[in-house]
Amino acid sequence: MAKRDLYEVLGVNRDASEDEMKKAYRKLAMKYHPDRNPDNKEAEEKFKEAKEAYEILTDANKRAAYDRYGHDGVNPQMGGGAGGQGFDGFADAFGDIFGDIFGGGGGGGRGRSNVYRGADLRYNLEISLEEAARGAEKTIRIPAQEECGACHGSGAKPGTQPKTCPTCGGAGQVRIQQGFFSIQQTCPKCHGSGRIIPEPCTSCGGAGRVKRQKTLEVKIPAGIDDDMRLRHGGHGEPGVNGGPAGDLYVEIHIKQHPVFQRDGDDLHCEMPISFTTAALGGEIEIPTLDGAANIRIPAETQSAKVFRLRGKGIRNVRTHAPGDLMVHVVVETPVKLTERQKELLREFEDIASSNAERHNPKAKSWMDKVKDFFSG
Ligand SMILES: [Zn+2]
Ligand SMILES: [Zn+2]
Repeated sequence: MAKRDLYEVLGVNRDASEDEMKKAYRKLAMKYHPDRNPDNKEAEEKFKEAKEAYEILTDANKRAAYDRYGHDGVNPQMGGGAGGQGFDGFADAFGDIFGDIFGGGGGGGRGRSNVYRGADLRYNLEISLEEAARGAEKTIRIPAQEECGACHGSGAKPGTQPKTCPTCGGAGQVRIQQGFFSIQQTCPKCHGSGRIIPEPCTSCGGAGRVKRQKTLEVKIPAGIDDDMRLRHGGHGEPGVNGGPAGDLYVEIHIKQHPVFQRDGDDLHCEMPISFTTAALGGEIEIPTLDGAANIRIPAETQSAKVFRLRGKGIRNVRTHAPGDLMVHVVVETPVKLTERQKELLREFEDIASSNAERHNPKAKSWMDKVKDFFSG
């Protein structure tokens, strides 16, 4: 939609005085104000248009920019200056200026609040699998802001005092009387704090706070899993102007373990055994998170067999029920054989192959299938 010429909007000449524009605007505002034109979109648009024209043309810098460059010189989306909020919100357009006329005088404190909650922080904490399984207490260092020791938080150079802002008298807000209207805005001198610091503290630059690191004890519950987050309320960034602090989220990352892989509350590990142990059976010592345990390997154990050790996994962080430990058997083919070992194995092979059906049933039946396949 092409924008109308601002002077045309107000219905004044290009050399109109501020007073003339004020009168013109007042007339338009009275006519198109939404309180008098409920649910009238057209009136609302006209009202916004008039308000924008008035605000630009009564600001000497903006008026000069508009006269020179047209609308491009005073794009309201760029903000700045009195109002400065753009015109996207109905409340923005009508809140402050007309509060006194139509809103039944809200008297003071109507301005935007400058109190904000601090931002949340995230801390990545790496722990071992053992720590995750048993729980742990960790001391972490997090960035924090502390009262400046030199000025005790006042921001004023030691020996000097902050003063009440002379512009707003300490209120942090000022009302600018523009004829019929009164505009309330954050005090430009003290930026809403109500105080000014004639000589800033050199340690903190007048902020009253300095960056420090603080230590925090983090209690890690037993059974915690990768990527779980622990919330520490109030340990995030401090709030602004008395707002509450944000929260700190400690995100848990579990380091890779040399022996165990975790799957939920279960643990898995590989257990290489010699082929003679696999054939003859035997007892093997295996590690668990609670120390060593023995597994009896039955004779004729095949590769990839899984032994389940109940309750040797990780206790669930909520239910505390323990998971299991799965031991995956890997039969190891012997390497770097001596002549003597080879001799024995050849002899063994001679005897075994004479009755392959009995000693290597899987290999035998597989070979038979392959033969059928080629001859069929
Ligand atoms: Zn200081
Ligand atoms: Zn002030």
